[in-house]
Amino acid sequence: MASSSPFGNDRICGVVAATDAREAMRQLRRALEMTRTVELRLDWLKDGKERHEFLSRLSKLRRSATFIATCRHRDAGGRYDGPDATQLAVLGAALRAGCRWCDLEVEGLSRIPGFALDLQMQRGKWILSWHNFGRPQSAKLLRGRVSAIDSASEKRGFAATKIASQCDSLADSLNVLRAARGKRNIIAVSMGEAATAARILALREGSALAYAPMEAATAPGQISLEEMKNLYRADKLDRQTRVYGVIGNPIGHSLSPHLQNAGFQARRINAVYLPFAVKDLRDFLGAIEPLGIRGFSITLPHKQSILRHLDDCDPLAATIGAVNTVVVRNSGKLYGYNTDYVGVLRALERRIPIRGSRVLIFGAGGAARAVAFALESGGATVAVCARRPAEAKKLARAVHGEAVGRSALRREFFDAIVNATPVGMHPRENVTPLEARELNCRLVFDLIYRPRETKLLKLAARRGIETISGIEMFLAQGIAQWEIWMGERAPEKAMRAAVMLALKREEASSQK
Ligand code: NAP
Repeated sequence: MASSSPFGNDRICGVVAATDAREAMRQLRRALEMTRTVELRLDWLKDGKERHEFLSRLSKLRRSATFIATCRHRDAGGRYDGPDATQLAVLGAALRAGCRWCDLEVEGLSRIPGFALDLQMQRGKWILSWHNFGRPQSAKLLRGRVSAIDSASEKRGFAATKIASQCDSLADSLNVLRAARGKRNIIAVSMGEAATAARILALREGSALAYAPMEAATAPGQISLEEMKNLYRADKLDRQTRVYGVIGNPIGHSLSPHLQNAGFQARRINAVYLPFAVKDLRDFLGAIEPLGIRGFSITLPHKQSILRHLDDCDPLAATIGAVNTVVVRNSGKLYGYNTDYVGVLRALERRIPIRGSRVLIFGAGGAARAVAFALESGGATVAVCARRPAEAKKLARAVHGEAVGRSALRREFFDAIVNATPVGMHPRENVTPLEARELNCRLVFDLIYRPRETKLLKLAARRGIETISGIEMFLAQGIAQWEIWMGERAPEKAMRAAVMLALKREEASSQK
């Protein structure tokens, strides 16, 4: 089927940005394994010699692809700071080397003599681009600005227009997408951490292209080409796609998109799960209806504060006082659950009979609370030890358990010990919340999953004690979320494999 996009079928555009020609070619080759549309950031190459070298290698590349040449000026957020005439000459050379498109920033229009630009524009197709790295603009201002740039673009013979604007909130990113809607060949780019979801949904919302860097994100909110294609399938999303996500702050390292999207892919469900970096809950709640969000996970710091915004809540989640899962009903009403609770039980009950066990929880924060209520409901006797004894007492009382002082741990025996503190978490992997002599138990369960094997688990294993990694709880709570949203059994094997692969890659890259 012929594509209606002027850029062809591949609307996820890989971005090659390197300071030397060799590295730029390496990135380009990798990009071409995933897409046929690639932007070449010639302004990133450190000097004219590297640009010449790169373009001469490009001209020998026997691949049919849509290359977009960009040599962005410093005053438009790029790295090029030479004369305008040379910038035009570089773009001209790029067209001769095989690029089909050139991107020129709107600032250049007023500086470059019309005849010189017209001459260059006789070859190839051109994009007129506008970048706002300053404060986000109001919806009205943005609409006016986009209309003005789009008309200038059409009048001067540009085949497409690109608008890229800084967003401090999801509402800002929706403004960018809306301002571009219904316009001729327009590329809408929402920039900033709060705009990651809008970047992934841009194609669905009518943008002609979505950009994705080859290397790790070079600006906040960017998603790598590999993740755009394979994790979020941004080019396959349509108006029927059901949108889910995770809200938190920070959210960049969440493994939940790997888990949930693997489930959708395995079952061939037209749904996507996105990361939402949310500082202000009201900002996110305002985006539920326009983006068609059907459900979401909640992580720190919103697990308690979300309760105020729910229409109804599972009684157990209300008792725990924390919600990590929300279903958006057809009426738009929000219903909350706590699957951390299910996660604890599923992870533990495979290894020990919970009823009748005596379990020590170390820590008395949010996760400790979910663990304590889960264990109590499962029929275990709960003991709590925390660095602030008053907090341990409070939690112990809530689950009819006992508070245990730290000095007693050397003498006491438990069926299981659960670490519910962040001590030992990446990057401080060399510390342990408890010493070896305090591990008098049959099983140690560390809620931490970065790394999968913490120092605490190593100490336990050395003493012949069984261990459970926090990844088991993470998987179980996420699988329970998937089942709540989809109303069917989750493809657990595929979901587990996707998370394990993501963690393995992460561990390998942090060892480099
Ligand atoms: P939280 O609400 O901040 O609670 C942390 C608890 O750890 C508090 O009791 C805190 O004591 C204590 N703590 C912190 N630093 C300590 C230290 N140096 N020594 C002794 N105690 C210390 O955090 P949370 O949400 O409960 O999370 C706790 C851990 O569980 C995190 O590592 C998180 O990643 C993990 N978790 C895992 C999953 C999973 O699916 N596997 C789910 C949820 C959480 P103070 O109150 O005195 O600061």
